[in-house]
Amino acid sequence: MTVRVRFAPSPTGYLHIGGARTALYNYLYAKAVGGTFVLRVEDTDLERSKAEYEKLQIEDLKWFGITYDEGPDKPNPKYAPYRQSERWDIYMKYAKELVEKDLAYYDFCTDEELEAMKEKAASENRDPHYEGKWKNPEFKAEALKKIAAGEKAAIRFRAPKRDFTLNDKVKGKVVYPANMVGDFVIIRSNGLAVYNYCCVIDDWLMDITHVIRGEDHLSNTVRQLMIYEALGAKLPEFAHVSLLIGADRQKLSKRHGATSVNLYREENYLPEAMCNYLVQLGWSHPEEKDIFDKEEIQKIFTLDRFSPSPAMYDLEKLKWVNSQHIKKMASSEIIKLVEALPEAGYFKSQGPEWKSAATELFKQKVNFLSEIPKQINEMVLSEELEMNDQLKDILSWETTPKVIDYIDSQIQTITTPFITEAQMNGWMEHVKKELGVKGKPLFMGVRAALTGKDHGPDLKFLIPLTPVSVLKKRVAQLKK
Ligand code: GLU
Repeated sequence: MTVRVRFAPSPTGYLHIGGARTALYNYLYAKAVGGTFVLRVEDTDLERSKAEYEKLQIEDLKWFGITYDEGPDKPNPKYAPYRQSERWDIYMKYAKELVEKDLAYYDFCTDEELEAMKEKAASENRDPHYEGKWKNPEFKAEALKKIAAGEKAAIRFRAPKRDFTLNDKVKGKVVYPANMVGDFVIIRSNGLAVYNYCCVIDDWLMDITHVIRGEDHLSNTVRQLMIYEALGAKLPEFAHVSLLIGADRQKLSKRHGATSVNLYREENYLPEAMCNYLVQLGWSHPEEKDIFDKEEIQKIFTLDRFSPSPAMYDLEKLKWVNSQHIKKMASSEIIKLVEALPEAGYFKSQGPEWKSAATELFKQKVNFLSEIPKQINEMVLSEELEMNDQLKDILSWETTPKVIDYIDSQIQTITTPFITEAQMNGWMEHVKKELGVKGKPLFMGVRAALTGKDHGPDLKFLIPLTPVSVLKKRVAQLKK
């Protein structure tokens, strides 16, 4: 059996991180088993669906490196079209067949009649299920006559009155009791089909073998199971992945921060890191690894490693994952990305050796690539002293003025770069001997003198990157 999976977004907004996670799971599964990944656009809500959102969502998928094998712009003639709004006649054709088989019926009730029916059921403590006259097969001939005369009616599916069971790959056995749903509309009186029905028709006709989607669709699934059965269609496997929740254990929403992928793109998150983080929200690596690449996962992804409990979306963890991916990235790759940042002017103006040494140093220290130019400004270029209590303390030590004076005398006359990484340890030894100062007073004194700060990256790497003019100014200020 060739595996066929799909991601079926509704283009009513930007791509949501939950949607991106679902897309990733489908993509990874298709890759892992050599299957086909289909993009289907569920734009049945004509008012809210916009072509622009479809385009933006596809761009976001591409940013992740999620490519699809079939979709609106990559049609396989056997299954096209891939937008639901282009499939109305298909939905109608099968709905009419269901009517013919008495598995569905035309319903001419008005909204007012339906409302009255619901109220009556509520007052009699009954389920608010459809009990209108058109349910009765006796009226079928009359209904067909009305339709032939051009009257409009909804098509309502006759829900079997018995339990339905789903064996879900994530949730296990789910039993839907007989009274859970009443007869439901599959085609509205304006001729437009509804989600639960379109979804089944499409998954069936597109030969989808596995439906991997969010748990929020679990309650829809009972209606879908009924339709599969009525069509005589083979059921796909279902995997309803757990919901994403915020720290308050509520379903993830805008209250919890950015929920659309484009905002993360704007904030310079790495797509590899986002993929990594999203995949492991509710799915675990067989070796319990936290950090991995899409390329690695797509070889080993299976559907039996999902957790059925909700996954907590934690921005701090995502930032950490981002920092780990930065550490792992080749410096040459980082240099390209940093150079593209608007704030990277100084970085860009430097030579290749400087760039690669600075990248090697600062990639260890940041959560985001955009922090690299910031760190360079602060640690390499700034002439300001960071006069906090710790620095004041260092300056108050008896040995510090001696260190500062010595460095000042060494540095003020030179014009070439002060020191290389290889020379640094030897130079420290030399200062130690010259001044008779060692240990913390020596190291902290040198740091204070050359950086104007009490903290920062290893001096051995930092000082060779720093322009000698900056070093001179820092020391001179401290001498005063
Ligand atoms: N269009 C639905 C959504 O965006 C997807 C439904 C499904 O995957 O079956 O939530």
